[in-house]
Amino acid sequence: MVIAVAEFKISYYQYLDAESNIVTPLPFNHTQLIKRYKTMVLTRVFDLKAIALQRTGQLGTYPSSLGQEAVSTGIGYALKPEDVFSTFYRDYAAQMMRGVTMEEILLYWSGSERGNDYQNPSAKEDLPACVPIGSQYLHAAGVATAFKLRKQPRAALVTCGDGATSQGDFYETLNVAGAWQLPLVMVVENNQWAISVPRAHQSHAQTLAQKGIAGGVDCEQVDGNDIIAVESRIALALKKARENKGPTLTYRLSDHTTADDASRYRDKKEMERAWKEEPISRLKNYLISQNSWSEEEEKSWLNHCSEKVEASVKTYLNSTPEPMENMFKFHYDKPYHVS
Ligand SMILES: [Mg+2]
Repeated sequence: MVIAVAEFKISYYQYLDAESNIVTPLPFNHTQLIKRYKTMVLTRVFDLKAIALQRTGQLGTYPSSLGQEAVSTGIGYALKPEDVFSTFYRDYAAQMMRGVTMEEILLYWSGSERGNDYQNPSAKEDLPACVPIGSQYLHAAGVATAFKLRKQPRAALVTCGDGATSQGDFYETLNVAGAWQLPLVMVVENNQWAISVPRAHQSHAQTLAQKGIAGGVDCEQVDGNDIIAVESRIALALKKARENKGPTLTYRLSDHTTADDASRYRDKKEMERAWKEEPISRLKNYLISQNSWSEEEEKSWLNHCSEKVEASVKTYLNSTPEPMENMFKFHYDKPYHVS
């Protein structure tokens, strides 16, 4: 005798498809959409400049957010100031919207501790970018536990890539989030590659979202190239008194980091397909089709973005070198000297 003791379903959410058609009624008006579009464009301009800085020896290894702007922008709009954001990396739009400056992001990727010391009070409680894969999930679970113990109506939101979903830290967080019903939203930014390991080799699971099922965590898929879907679903997950979570899928267009060359292992056709689905032109085409955006407005916004980015880069390049002792200063309460 076989009895089904449990059954599960993974839902997929999309508002604006790859051809810029509305497939679900929009929850935003055009003014709101233009605002989000501008944030994504600014993020891309910043990102391309950061890559150029790295390529010319003026920045350390830098993980690009190219093609993933919708996820990070959606997160930025969905979070409330009282929430805490714990990023892996690539979430520059969300970080900037939280009050982290471009200079701080550049300082971080140049190896300076000052890039973690957010000066804007609104970003003070957010955690620094976390390069060790998956470890930020545990930190965010700790933050969410604190909110729960203090009975604060706040949520923690944490991001990771598809590769991190194979890590122990990821599964441990899912388990404790479910068991303790933590106010935690976990977002998986699936760009289909963990450096050079494709998604198909990473996991035999049909979806990465279903990994939440084992932890008793609500899970779903969202079109990560659709800013409207990302923001709406994450806002809902955050609103649910932060007791449930919603992993999100997206596709990357860039190399894993600037230390990487994806053309060595990735098919050209796959890249071409990904470019057709990318989030910025998808929304731009829609806005233009609705007469809500024009090429003139595009040009003037691009100019504004370039000026803003160039000014930040200038400040970054003129910053004084970090004192060598800072490398150790923040590791321990008291410095340990070997005699
Ligand atoms: Mg990845």
